[in-house]
Amino acid sequence: MHVRMEAPPRLWATAEDAGDPAGPQVSVVSQAFAAVPLLGTPPQVAQACVDAVRALTGGPARVEVPTRPVPLAVGDDAEGLVPLASFDAPGGQGRVLAGAHTAQYDAQAVQAVAEQLERVWAVQQHRAAQTLELDQLRFHLGALQQVARTLSVVRGAEETERLVLDSVGEVFFAWWAALYHTEGEQYTCRAVRSLRGESVAFAIPGRVVRAIAAPGQPPVIPPEDAEIRDHVPAEVAVVAPLDFGDEEAGLLILGRRMTDAPYEPHDLALLRALADSSAIALRNAELLDRLRAQATIDPLTGCHNRRGFDEILENELARSQRYNRPLCLVLLDIDRFKAINDDFGHEVGDHALQRIGRAVRHAFRSTDSACRYGGEEFALVFPETTKEEGLKLAERLRVLVEALPPNAEVPRPLTASFGVAAFPADATNHTDLVRAADRALYQAKSNGRNRVELA
Ligand code: GH3
Ligand code: MG
Ligand code: MG
Repeated sequence: MHVRMEAPPRLWATAEDAGDPAGPQVSVVSQAFAAVPLLGTPPQVAQACVDAVRALTGGPARVEVPTRPVPLAVGDDAEGLVPLASFDAPGGQGRVLAGAHTAQYDAQAVQAVAEQLERVWAVQQHRAAQTLELDQLRFHLGALQQVARTLSVVRGAEETERLVLDSVGEVFFAWWAALYHTEGEQYTCRAVRSLRGESVAFAIPGRVVRAIAAPGQPPVIPPEDAEIRDHVPAEVAVVAPLDFGDEEAGLLILGRRMTDAPYEPHDLALLRALADSSAIALRNAELLDRLRAQATIDPLTGCHNRRGFDEILENELARSQRYNRPLCLVLLDIDRFKAINDDFGHEVGDHALQRIGRAVRHAFRSTDSACRYGGEEFALVFPETTKEEGLKLAERLRVLVEALPPNAEVPRPLTASFGVAAFPADATNHTDLVRAADRALYQAKSNGRNRVELA
């Protein structure tokens, strides 16, 4: 046990002090505690308190404070010490212990020690609360800056949705996060970020969401309703609307946090701010997608235009090369199209192009791409398709075009000729593949039209 007795116990009751409420010993106490720093970590502060008490008693001392999560105990071993005083401290009552002769101490001086300790720990508590608030604000600012930076580059909707979920999920340490889009009377899931493979409902009825986020109430409300639990994902923790001005664009739904901490009001305020900037980014992304689509879609037929075709064929060829998979290109050219224009006028010619465009767009799988390659020429890109399969598809389309019944808009039956070429059988790059299909198409024309030829 650490015992120091160099100085006489200065809390000793003396005859001179009797009857003096603010006698010399009380001011001695104040002086001893003046050395305790107001700044400093809790252990540093506790150590300074111990030093002050040691200086006053000339003996061992120990200070215990029930701070959370870890209680503090600083100074000499508790064994052989007796409680001198207790004081209000963060987390409950703190204690100061000193050597065994405490009974002889002046009661007022001991009271002054308790008051000094109380004051020191009240300042500590106040500081800790301010530091926490400051840390939270700093975290909020950092999160907002990060999200603002991420979303400042306008990207496509799919990428933006993923970025929004990643940012929000990381800021709140959420196990999962989902983004829903407003679609008429319901919300449909657009993106999910899930660290444990949680699945979420594909669609949530609008009335359920209205029950969670009623107008006039804070926009982020944890749902506790059985009906809501049927429709919204299990373990849902918060729901934040993605509002764009007056318009409701969608929802952000977050799962519980990995830290198990609840979403505090300051978290919800941050989530609202993030949801607002996300809504703007998502709106911009949608506009960009629409512009991009417009730039690569042929307005007359609704098929991809030449630019779209080049992009699609480039991407699909790269994929086929990477995974060593076949790919088929079919070129279609309407037979004797000039005669339709000449006989019935350009408007009928345009209707004929629209008819063929519709036919090629709807005839195949969604992964197959229909493009208007030139005036009355169409190109079809079939990934994962061999030359033989491509031949069958082209033949099917040839029959389909031939069978289109004449109507008021297009008063003459239509036929088309086809050229089929495949990667890697006929060519290994974009230019050569188109050239091979084009040669086959020319062959179909010279072999009498309304037929399919292979490269
Ligand atoms: P072939 O069977 O050999 O293909 O004969 P064709 O008449 O179809 O071929 P040609 O290349 O001689 O004529 C194509 C015509 O397509 C010429 C052009 O006026 C017409 N055309 C091209 N683009 C459009 C369009 O957007 N609208 C209309 N109405 N006609 C177009
Ligand atoms: Mg032509
Ligand atoms: Mg033609």
